[in-house]
Amino acid sequence: MTQNTSSKILRCPVCKSPRQHEFRPFCSARCKQIDLNRWLSEVYSFPVEEEQNPIESQEEGLK
Ligand SMILES: [Zn+2]
Repeated sequence: MTQNTSSKILRCPVCKSPRQHEFRPFCSARCKQIDLNRWLSEVYSFPVEEEQNPIESQEEGLK
């Protein structure tokens, strides 16, 4: 019997600690907030390239 269950433990994506059901998928409200702030900062730091590359031009080529 090998104890291989540790790999099945779902861990907090922020601090890699075993996550709590109450704060899933995080281990605490703090990590949840950290991840949210990280996600928001990435969104705001990304340049808006989609508007420069309209999908409409690709659809015209298929017609
Ligand atoms: Zn955490």
